[in-house]
Amino acid sequence: MSGSTRDAVLTVSGLRRSFGGVRAVDGVDLSIAPGEFVSIIGPNGSGKSTTVNLISGVLKPDAGEILVRGKRLRPGRPEAAAAAGLARTFQNGRVFGGMTVRENVDVGLQTTLHAARPLRGLADIPVLRWVSLLAEVAVALAPTPGVRAERRAAAARIDAQLARFEERLTPRADQSAYTLSYANRRRTEIARALASEPQLLLLDEPAAGMNQAETAEIGRQLADLKAQGQTILLVEHKMELIHQLSDRVLVLDEGRVIAEGAPDAVLADPRVIEAYLGRSRAGKAVIDA
Ligand code: ADP
Ligand code: MG
Repeated sequence: MSGSTRDAVLTVSGLRRSFGGVRAVDGVDLSIAPGEFVSIIGPNGSGKSTTVNLISGVLKPDAGEILVRGKRLRPGRPEAAAAAGLARTFQNGRVFGGMTVRENVDVGLQTTLHAARPLRGLADIPVLRWVSLLAEVAVALAPTPGVRAERRAAAARIDAQLARFEERLTPRADQSAYTLSYANRRRTEIARALASEPQLLLLDEPAAGMNQAETAEIGRQLADLKAQGQTILLVEHKMELIHQLSDRVLVLDEGRVIAEGAPDAVLADPRVIEAYLGRSRAGKAVIDA
């Protein structure tokens, strides 16, 4: 293993996935260094969400390898990806409507609670999974001092995640998520992903459906996260966010990386302009920088 592979937070090589005859992801290589902010852009249907779904284990690749900090991920296993330190949000937004904002964020914390899951490692062995579950139930019924301390720390961590979004979420912490505005649901989803203190945060169009002011606000919050050293992979259509945040941009077209580099250079690349313009029947640029 090369030094750069070992040091990289994420290394993806030869990633492929087809749906019927459609090669959604057709040999993607990608590496992200600690603290780096990498963006993926590309026309609709170019394989961006599929790439995120493969990396996060939501989909199983047909081929390819995914390493987190040099360690190979078990393909198609979201819980393995979460345990390795990956956290994500979904393009269409996924919060649990019947749960409060606080409870939604708590879901993200569960991947990092150890005292409350005493025999966690056993859950990978099918027969022994029940032993692990029973132990967790026992701990829930009779919390030990270690568990109580962990819960207090968890509550503080949830509050800290909500506070990132200024007054958007904190006053609504105990409201059911279904009562939230669309933008606040998306913020809740980001807070949930961050609660696990991920090695890598994957965001699939976090500003989709947001107005200009909301998009600018998300941009500031992502810039803060970046300044704090969070490693991020962003899929986004909004070019102002791509320009503002990216250290490096990858452009996908028909499942392949057609350009990669600094945002200014990539967005001026004729192949990139062609990939966007070629898809637009009206002949109107989709790049709306
Ligand atoms: P993007 O996020 O770049 O818009 P996607 O990764 O969602 O693109 O989709 C890439 C291609 O794969 C598209 O042609 C899409 O229709 C197809 N695709 C994605 N997910 C599925 C699926 N679950 N079943 C069938 N086809 C899919
Ligand atoms: Mg998508």
